[in-house]
Amino acid sequence: MRNTRLCPKCGSREVVRVLDRPGRYASGNNIYTSRFENFGKIPVIRYVCANCGYVENWVETSRERDALRHAFSR
Ligand SMILES: [Zn+2]
Repeated sequence: MRNTRLCPKCGSREVVRVLDRPGRYASGNNIYTSRFENFGKIPVIRYVCANCGYVENWVETSRERDALRHAFSR
């Protein structure tokens, strides 16, 4: 969906990329690698099908994925 811009559920091409609002505190959509507010915040980008409403979540950069690997894997 992120790469094809094609909804896997309904086949629509009306897929939109939704950024989280920068600086928002009460975000349910970011992942925090630290317990300190706004430190180690990994943005999660949503891809939403405007036709059927299906949503995918992506951590888009390899630097951010490396930070997640470091913070959560053992
Ligand atoms: Zn769809």
